[in-house]
Amino acid sequence: MITRSPADVQSVPLASSQERAPWQRQLAGIIRDPAELCRRLDLDPAWLPGAEAGHALFEVRVPEAYLSRIRPGDPTDPLLRQVLPLGEETLEVPGYLADPLQEAEHTPAKGLIHKYAGRVLLIASPSCAINCRYCFRRHFPYGENAPSRAQWEASLDTLRGDASIREAILSGGDPLAASDRQLAWLVERLDAIPHLKRLRIHSRLPVVIPERVDDALLGWLSATRLQKVLVLHINHANEIDEAVIAACARLKQAGVTLLNQSVLLRGVNDSVTALAALSERLFEAGILPYYLHVLDPVAGAAHFDVPDDQARELVAGLRQVLPGFLMPTLTREVPGEASKTPL
Ligand SMILES: *Cc1c(COP(=O)(O)O)cnc(C)c1O
Ligand code: SF4
Repeated sequence: MITRSPADVQSVPLASSQERAPWQRQLAGIIRDPAELCRRLDLDPAWLPGAEAGHALFEVRVPEAYLSRIRPGDPTDPLLRQVLPLGEETLEVPGYLADPLQEAEHTPAKGLIHKYAGRVLLIASPSCAINCRYCFRRHFPYGENAPSRAQWEASLDTLRGDASIREAILSGGDPLAASDRQLAWLVERLDAIPHLKRLRIHSRLPVVIPERVDDALLGWLSATRLQKVLVLHINHANEIDEAVIAACARLKQAGVTLLNQSVLLRGVNDSVTALAALSERLFEAGILPYYLHVLDPVAGAAHFDVPDDQARELVAGLRQVLPGFLMPTLTREVPGEASKTPL
């Protein structure tokens, strides 16, 4: 008979917990080099100096599963435009700021933002699986907001002590970049707060790495008594391939309500045709359009801006071709306001 030493017994679960899930392996192998991005997509080398300059300000991050939806050799591809840094990012444009939403002022506990009634936003993971060039958090001090367990307890105490809070929103970065072990731990604690009714997650991961929707994720999602809402972030119909549709179907089976928010972006989705195709494709995947945000004036993203008048015209045009339930609400985030502001 073989007897195992206590050390052996301990090493078994440790080894298995360090094993990476397929989505984590994809995340580890993400494209982070502008030259590789240009080479893989057959882009003219003339794009490289601009890509390097933008990358120096906000690094390139593109998962393989997202890259595979981009047309090689086409610098106008609407998905490429979201991830390829351009020289324009280095321009200083009046009114475009490092922290356009002034979030630095609303963090009572580390990793917690309470600006709106009844809802509290928790920064569950400091990083993202993809770096979107227009991101309003491109200058956010993520590193300072990656909470430890002790900091989580402080955030949880804030939630426990305020019965007006009915909804916890996991945000980031991308909250689903955190491990399932961490997320299960957190959601278990949220679940135990009696006045909380809803768990909302804002994530782009199921879109950019659909394998993220695996058994481990569905396990803790299915286990909670909280009502679950997942707000995806998709800007163009081409982002929704068969793998995304399959991931959404599994989420719906687990009782998750699926919504989508987009950002209105010049050169990506600034036409009635593109926006209508997006809404139609979202519904095919079982997702309802929620918000269409105008760009937050973040430094380095001015070249994505669509003027307000044009945004309103686009939405009026969209109303001509879509049923009401496929219409997103056009909004802007105004610092200091108690809600998103409809345009
Ligand atoms: C956008 C946002 C919310 C959620 O707003 P909804 O209108 O409920 O989607 C909550 N808290 C903060 C800080 C936000 O920026
Ligand atoms: S996934 Fe969201 S938070 Fe992350 S870079 Fe893109 S827009 Fe920003």
